[in-house]
Amino acid sequence: MVQAARVERGMVRPSLEVKGLTRAELEHALQEMGELRYRAAQIFQWIYKRQVGSFEDMSNLPKALRHSLAERFTLKLLSVLQEDRSRDGARKFLFGLEDGKQIESVLIPDEDRMTACLSTQAGCALACAFCLTGVMGFQRHLEAWEIIGQIPALQERLQSEGRITHLVLMGMGEPLHNYEATVKALRVMTEKEGLAFSPRRITLSTVGLPKALEKLGEEGIGVNLAISLHAPTDDLRDQLVPINRRYPLKELLEACRAYPLPPRRRLTFEYVLLDGVNDRIEDAKELAVLLQGLRCKINLIPLNEAPEIPFKRPSRERLLAFQQVLHDQGYTATLRESRGWDISAACGMLNTEAVRKGLFRNKRAFFS
Ligand code: SF4
Repeated sequence: MVQAARVERGMVRPSLEVKGLTRAELEHALQEMGELRYRAAQIFQWIYKRQVGSFEDMSNLPKALRHSLAERFTLKLLSVLQEDRSRDGARKFLFGLEDGKQIESVLIPDEDRMTACLSTQAGCALACAFCLTGVMGFQRHLEAWEIIGQIPALQERLQSEGRITHLVLMGMGEPLHNYEATVKALRVMTEKEGLAFSPRRITLSTVGLPKALEKLGEEGIGVNLAISLHAPTDDLRDQLVPINRRYPLKELLEACRAYPLPPRRRLTFEYVLLDGVNDRIEDAKELAVLLQGLRCKINLIPLNEAPEIPFKRPSRERLLAFQQVLHDQGYTATLRESRGWDISAACGMLNTEAVRKGLFRNKRAFFS
């Protein structure tokens, strides 16, 4: 049931952020207020298509309804604390949350695309060995509205420079660790009266939590999946992606095979290449065997080096040799440079500056 007031962490919150509601939830709330359900579609259009800043601006709603909405709900925009622009056109945004936590999102222009890379958590609990967000540790899950709210906030920054065409949940955090809020956000993103993104244009990137993957498949939303694999064996993945110790490759790949992929679509496997660690020819061969029979493509991502990360980027020759093995085995394997490296906006580099300043004290030794 939608409540107009909630008690959270010992604080009474006077109202609920309306962007945290799916259309079905808003319809339900309106019915409880004695209003007609179709008003939810109108409200969604005002929020997401016309991006108004207050209920008062929703001029086709009766005045009394606008007043009741303002009493029960908030309509907030995330506040941008900082923006950095990369030489390659990527733009990174630091958002300040109400409790003082910070998250980052990235806009990546590419020919006719404008991709928004969104965060689902402040920090991340999964501690992947090559990832700065992992080094930052877990701070908290984002609420659904904080995930969704990144989109209108980014769109506002873009103004006449174009519209966001694609969404990737690849920013800070593991989306499936924050399952309920992520699924709710996906529903709002794909709601036709709201943000109206085709599920084909949304990619959820995950290390692959098998039970959550199964549940996500049952939701029937149909977004693209990118699985962060990074190693072809359990021994190696246990070290690079520690959650593998709980959910080994066999379980992960079973969940991938069972995921109800829409026709003509493929899973993506992401593989960050680390010099001398997972980039050997034998690794490529093992990877080819591991993924046999899966409808998939492989994104090879050369490591974005950072002082806090104890790995190196492989040479161009090693990258190409690894890719060639996969091509020879019949895979589509792209070698993808991350965008925004110079502003720490590239894959695995999101990490708020304030936290980074304390990082060196917390630096951990991997493979020790
Ligand atoms: S790679 Fe993803 S899941 Fe792993 S620590 Fe970084 S943000 Fe978390």
